[in-house]
Amino acid sequence: MRILVQKFGGTSVATAERREQVVSKVSEAVHGGYSTVIVVSAIGRSGDPYATDTFLKMVQGIYPDLPKRELDLLMSCGEVISGTVLVSTLNSLGFEAVLFTGGQAGIITNNDFGDARIVRVEPGAILEQLSEGKVVVVTGFQGITEDGQITTLGRGGSDTTASALGVALDAETIDIYTDVEGIMTADPRIVEDARIIDTVTYNEICQLAYQGAKVIHPRAVEIAMQRNIPLRIKSTFSDAPGTLVTNMHPDQGAGTDITADRIITGIAHTPNVTQLRILTVDAPNIHLTDKRIFKAMALADISVDFISVQPEAVLYTVSDEVSSKAVNILKNMGFEPEIVPSCAKVSIIGAGIAGVPGVMADMVEALSDAGVTILQSADSHTTIWVLVHKEDMVTAVQALHKKFKLSV
Ligand code: ADP
Ligand code: MG
Repeated sequence: MRILVQKFGGTSVATAERREQVVSKVSEAVHGGYSTVIVVSAIGRSGDPYATDTFLKMVQGIYPDLPKRELDLLMSCGEVISGTVLVSTLNSLGFEAVLFTGGQAGIITNNDFGDARIVRVEPGAILEQLSEGKVVVVTGFQGITEDGQITTLGRGGSDTTASALGVALDAETIDIYTDVEGIMTADPRIVEDARIIDTVTYNEICQLAYQGAKVIHPRAVEIAMQRNIPLRIKSTFSDAPGTLVTNMHPDQGAGTDITADRIITGIAHTPNVTQLRILTVDAPNIHLTDKRIFKAMALADISVDFISVQPEAVLYTVSDEVSSKAVNILKNMGFEPEIVPSCAKVSIIGAGIAGVPGVMADMVEALSDAGVTILQSADSHTTIWVLVHKEDMVTAVQALHKKFKLSV
């Protein structure tokens, strides 16, 4: 059996016309001889009647502290609705389609409601339907615990569902269909002449996704990477070839370096972060201070980023949403943190950065020529990050895109 997993995001199933385009992608797969598994997201985005955010607003307006277990039951409804609608559409057009919830599809998770991790997939029920020639539609973003509780997988969770099924079913490819024609060198909403990247490594796309490119969830990439199952990011609304995510060069096979001809692959951005700077030089037991600070953040479930520990100060960022919580904790510990709210993290990513001199210098030059102040910077072998004021974010992304000639 040649199995193909196709995932359709919220915008792809939003209207009847769009769902017909979804069906034509399914039809291509079926007529191409594939046993096809479809993963769907909820219909539309925030504000749309059947979007998950709309359900959330509805109950949170009444009782903001609804337990996470019940919230997950509610949040799993959007995909059930879109799945039902898609199965109806498929059946009306002559396909034999069957709908499975995450649990019915054998996606077993831990009980971390709202952000559950998949612990294993039992693909037997899907395989049985596929062997009968059916198209299997699976509601994305959800699973079930060992004791039968419905869970959801966190933002972007339908991508994760698609990858987990792709791995469990040993699919030939996992196709992620969305409203853009592939992964681009920057968010097309910010950089008009952003270009589609035709081939990219799992590692690079993971970094792009972690640093803010919403087009695919990093966890989905990690799962596909474990078994080297190729991922393709494509548009539901065109026949463009999209982006292939793999470690192999499409023409030359395993072991060849698909990144050899470029230094920078893409640029990502994350807005709405707050920089905190804590002077530790006068603190008693200074050698224990840094440890105490990060332990306190972890205990409060605050994720920290951009950490820079210096002899006299500690710097890090948190999301704007939790900044006042973080500041209160620090004040209760006797610190007076300096706060820079509304910052943005802008990252350049490329497997080719390692060992190439002058990339940081070029980055600094581009930003300073564009009048952007760098508040902090850091780097790894595939990524260089800078923290800037949020009002400089768009300018920074555009300046870097130009400097590294990503549109040509
Ligand atoms: P879906 O509903 O299909 O899951 P998402 O909104 O999660 O769609 O992802 C697609 C969106 O990601 C695009 O519309 C685009 O605006 C945004 N995006 C951000 N960065 C990038 C990038 N580097 N390449 C392509 N799209 C990007
Ligand atoms: Mg998405």
